[in-house]
Amino acid sequence: MTTASLPAGLIDEVVAFRRDIHAHPELGFEESRTAGIVSARLRELGYEVHDGIAITGVVGVMHGSRPGKTVMLRADMDALPLAEETERPFASTSAGKMHACGHDGHVAMLLGAARIIAERRDELAGTIVLCFQPAEEGKGGAKLMVEEGMLERFGVERAYGLHLFSQLATGVLGFREGQFYASSDSIEIRIDGFGGHGAAPHLSIDPILVAAEFVASVQKIVSRQIDPIEPAVVTIGAIHGGTTHNVIPSSVTMLGTVRAFDRGVREKMAERIERVLAGVCSASGATYAFDYAWRYPVTSNDVAQTAYVRALAERTFGGERVVTSEKHMGAEDFSFFAERVPACYFVVGSSGDARTSFPHHHGKFDIDEDALETGVRIMAALAFDAPHAAP
Ligand SMILES: [Zn+2]
Ligand SMILES: [Zn+2]
Repeated sequence: MTTASLPAGLIDEVVAFRRDIHAHPELGFEESRTAGIVSARLRELGYEVHDGIAITGVVGVMHGSRPGKTVMLRADMDALPLAEETERPFASTSAGKMHACGHDGHVAMLLGAARIIAERRDELAGTIVLCFQPAEEGKGGAKLMVEEGMLERFGVERAYGLHLFSQLATGVLGFREGQFYASSDSIEIRIDGFGGHGAAPHLSIDPILVAAEFVASVQKIVSRQIDPIEPAVVTIGAIHGGTTHNVIPSSVTMLGTVRAFDRGVREKMAERIERVLAGVCSASGATYAFDYAWRYPVTSNDVAQTAYVRALAERTFGGERVVTSEKHMGAEDFSFFAERVPACYFVVGSSGDARTSFPHHHGKFDIDEDALETGVRIMAALAFDAPHAAP
């Protein structure tokens, strides 16, 4: 499919969807406006539409006229709790919320592909399941979809998803077979000491000092207890305690994230973090509460599916626009789909210049809208090819 063969006005329409969704960001499981736009558009295009999947998710189904596999194409819809700093004319109108990861583009691109699929449905084999997923950012919308039985309900046999990526040039597609994105778990900690006067520390148990010891010591797990060949990260991202200069508070709370690629490393991190916490608390007479939440598994791409999608991308765009991506310590809840059905998750470059090269989750993050066409075309190509040609 060449650019010329895209329906007239399609890219303008995709850009308009993207800007509208960008201006109205919604957090995970609150994407009711976005879901409404998706649902209305899919109905208009003649899809069988299912609303309220995993609270705010939307699924659109289109049956082909010939036999073939049931193929799911997925876009995530949620924004982040972050103040936008781009000063674009379509910047967020919701204070403290922003599409800083590109999910606005994902929704718009899949709606663009949806139109191509609908207009050429007589060429379609199998069944296309368009999955507009809620709550990718930490809340596990994909997990809830899987738990609700969405894959079985629609008979999904193959799953494909993409992410716009600001560290890759516009229009370049990145693939990686096997492990691609890390597992992501979160930790919540409360250290309970004994409050008192800042001038009489001997009468208190200072949880701030214990927290400081913990934050420093926890990094020694990765440097001294995990095989250096195995990637692992623990980050304490929030620490809260105390109110003023001269009061030793009674407790401190902390939030953190843990990333890994190996199941054994992941389990060891959970156990060792608590061991360090127990050690520093015990040394000072403090106590603690520790919660380790197992969140997203490793996103691992099926080898045959990755080779297939990569070859399709090379045929569609030319080999010079296809690269091998590096492993990434970020995480993706597409992993819940990829655990159940043969799947491929890949990235589409959206960096055109300095303005569109900020990291994801940055207040100045923006995409080069020229990348949208690449996403539309690869999703449409998958819809027409995968039901009869995917391994
Ligand atoms: Zn993100
Ligand atoms: Zn994202």
